[in-house]
Amino acid sequence: MKHKRVIIIGAGVAGLATSIALARQGFKVSIFEKNPEAGGRCGIIRREGHRFDLGATIFLMPGIYREVFDYLGMSLDKDLPGTDLPDIYRLIYNETDFLDFSTNEAYLKEQLEKTEPGSYKQAQKYVATGYKMYQLAMEHLLGKNFYRLFDFVNLKNLRLLAALKIHIRHQQYVARFFTHSYLKTAFTFQNIYVGQNPLKAPALFSMLPAAELSEGSLFPAGGMHRIVEVLREKALSLGVELQCNTEVQSILTDKNRVSGVQLADQSLHEADIIVANADLPYVYKELLPPGRKSKQLERKSYSCSAIVFHWGLDKQYPQLGHHNVLLSADYKKGLETIFKHNSMSNEPSFYIHTPARTDATAAPEGQESMTVIIPVGHLDESNRDQWQQLKQIGREYVIARLQKQGLNDIEEHIKFEICYLPQTWQSLLHVCKGSVFGSINHNILQMGYFRPHNKHARYKNLYFAGGSTHPGNGVPLVLLSAKLCSQRILKDFK
Ligand SMILES: Cc1cc2nc3c(=O)[nH]c(=O)nc-3n(C[C@H](O)[C@H](O)[C@H](O)COP(=O)(O)OP(=O)(O)OC[C@H]3O[C@@H](n4cnc5c(N)ncnc54)[C@H](O)[C@@H]3O)c2cc1C
Repeated sequence: MKHKRVIIIGAGVAGLATSIALARQGFKVSIFEKNPEAGGRCGIIRREGHRFDLGATIFLMPGIYREVFDYLGMSLDKDLPGTDLPDIYRLIYNETDFLDFSTNEAYLKEQLEKTEPGSYKQAQKYVATGYKMYQLAMEHLLGKNFYRLFDFVNLKNLRLLAALKIHIRHQQYVARFFTHSYLKTAFTFQNIYVGQNPLKAPALFSMLPAAELSEGSLFPAGGMHRIVEVLREKALSLGVELQCNTEVQSILTDKNRVSGVQLADQSLHEADIIVANADLPYVYKELLPPGRKSKQLERKSYSCSAIVFHWGLDKQYPQLGHHNVLLSADYKKGLETIFKHNSMSNEPSFYIHTPARTDATAAPEGQESMTVIIPVGHLDESNRDQWQQLKQIGREYVIARLQKQGLNDIEEHIKFEICYLPQTWQSLLHVCKGSVFGSINHNILQMGYFRPHNKHARYKNLYFAGGSTHPGNGVPLVLLSAKLCSQRILKDFK
């Protein structure tokens, strides 16, 4: 294995983690990254003393991070020190009502009981069952490779799928526990993290809030991009060669194998193994010779996209927590507009990240680096020209909503603005349709064996790691995909 040369396309979290796993086994690894810095959707923006996490901001499921860091010969606690966030996020319903989704049991109890008497006990049941589902899903669905259809579709797994409640909608399931709409929303909205419609997702996804409340959340000192930095440092220390500003233009094939890549500068580079970390549907469409699979991928269901504003503010607002979710009065209509009409409602729900209160290095003293994320539909032929208008509507609405929340002077304190639209995700990172939460949606027919595999069916030495292959999207799952991909390569090349 010592002399096997691996090329990895893309230095996102999954590309970097795969490079470490393989370099530790003696492979000679090069990463080609199109952008000036590693990180992809876990990248960073620095401006005028402000620091913004470009995409990922919430550090959830520390158990998965710990498992993969161990596998990579790293230590989560030593390599990535952080601050615990007992109040994971603040759910803001309107000018007066909010709920801190908290791992502080007494505080959570007080808030839940005030909203709906008896609901704390129900929440305990909901979380205990959801966390069991999470553990089952990790063990049997998300945390392993499926080599054959039979590994996935068998009697044992059919029983498992029933235990994972894939036959019940999350929205119906949550109604068995709570009657108050605030609580039903508080325990389902997390489905949007993986680009899923909370109204349509299966009850399996109750594992998300359950994992949050069971394992808690932390914030790495220096922001989420620290994950990328520590992976990058480890990779370089193992001799991985990382070339940024280096775009792969095509993957070279020879019958049933891939033989190397051609870069945008037309140079050719040979490899024994290629791992594509770039978004999988894009790789099939743009980097490989045309084929049926690419058309099939086109027809899959895609996750939602996001309009993101990064604002450098010369003021801090104590009204906000570290993570905040501002729900719109017409939450359901908002979801329908995203998932059914691939657009954005005029009064969207949105998320705000204001990290400087926890990590003073995020902004100059007394100031704030605020990131606003509005989930929106993904790009399609019908909406290509709408985004500038939606950006304007979204911006005005967010500011008006924040003013109602008491941030009256926010607009005059915005020193600068950086905005990402669905097209930006597509052009900057090559994420198909700008579907940043996994591109291919996580419905049950697109998970496990049915998710695009981490090994190409025809080209036997071409592998995939990242959010659009198994097991799915979000930094923890993407780390897991690197572990599974490298295990598959090690099995094949032993
Ligand atoms: C707005 C937003 C919010 C999010 N919030 C969270 C969150 O709170 N918590 C969480 O865990 N996750 C979150 N996520 C998801 C998380 O960021 C992603 O799941 C994860 O970063 C994806 O990593 P990846 O390695 O799969 O892919 P990417 O990060 O997309 O990396 C792929 C890399 O390939 C490169 N590339 C593409 N084409 C080429 C080419 N031809 N040649 C060379 N290089 C190429 C790209 O430039 C990129 O660097 C969020 C994402 C977004 C966008």
